[in-house]
Amino acid sequence: MMTPTVLITGCSSGFGAATARLFADRGWSVVATMRDPASGDDLARRDTILVTRLDVQDAESIATAVALTRDRFGRLDALINNAGFGLSGVFEETPRTKIVEQFEVNLFGLMDVTRAVLPIMRQQRSGTIVNVTSGAGVFGLPLISLYTASKFAVEGFSESLSYELETLGIRVRLVEPGGVTSTRFGERANTEAAQAERIEDYAPFLAGAAQVFDAIRANRSGATMEDVAEVIFAATIDPSDRLRWVATDDIKPLVTARREAGEVRYMDMMRKQFRPNLSS
Ligand code: NAP
Repeated sequence: MMTPTVLITGCSSGFGAATARLFADRGWSVVATMRDPASGDDLARRDTILVTRLDVQDAESIATAVALTRDRFGRLDALINNAGFGLSGVFEETPRTKIVEQFEVNLFGLMDVTRAVLPIMRQQRSGTIVNVTSGAGVFGLPLISLYTASKFAVEGFSESLSYELETLGIRVRLVEPGGVTSTRFGERANTEAAQAERIEDYAPFLAGAAQVFDAIRANRSGATMEDVAEVIFAATIDPSDRLRWVATDDIKPLVTARREAGEVRYMDMMRKQFRPNLSS
């Protein structure tokens, strides 16, 4: 049997790097892509991992990485669209340029990489595309409205795309992780947030929201990036047509509430958390 090949974006750290290691452990050929290939020296030491440059905001780098994959392996069985970052802060405090960047990386970049690999998968009449979203792709929370918007967009895009590609033998998967602190996600989100200009009118809301977020953080499941990589791998090789994979336990209650409680009950529950002075 041919060795299967996977291309993964955002492998310089976090889920991307852990996923590259896991697929290599399970016998796959891995194209581990990242903005700066020097960050992938550890991965590059493995025989079955090819580290190459791919910046999802740079169309030429996408084309070059996909051409290299085709030349080297002659096939592509899976694409893991993992690259992304989280913009946090109050919407009104966030400059438009930052919002554009958020969508360029999390949504348009993901679409561009997907478009680049589709001719290979169409020709094979097989392949799996795994898009890493988030709990923030399922439910909205304040202070991450732009991140949420980008991940909701990926969810809608992926669901729609899954119908288009099914008859061509290409499967689409959504992997939805909750909070995992061992990646560089929080560090980048904090750097981004620190750049915003503060608007004082939001101060009372921020103080209340801080308590809700502290409670959410206290509820973290302790999931690791390796746990998320396992879910990405399972979603990739699963033969069923299941689209969505919640990757960590911490968000399961909220995902279930969002999907099963009904709109009125769910929104009531959430509003009370962010407006604690509302009568119950
Ligand atoms: P991470 O350690 O910060 O990894 C993010 C990766 O994306 C890095 O390799 C980063 O590369 C890459 N990236 C950023 N901009 C890029 C671009 N323009 N082109 C190519 N790569 C780019 O964070 P992570 O937690 O592993 O995040 C991976 C994915 O999981 C993201 O899509 C994130 O939204 C999602 N997620 C994370 C969490 C969490 O709590 N950790 C929860 C839910 C969802 P550089 O090193 O070059 O910046």
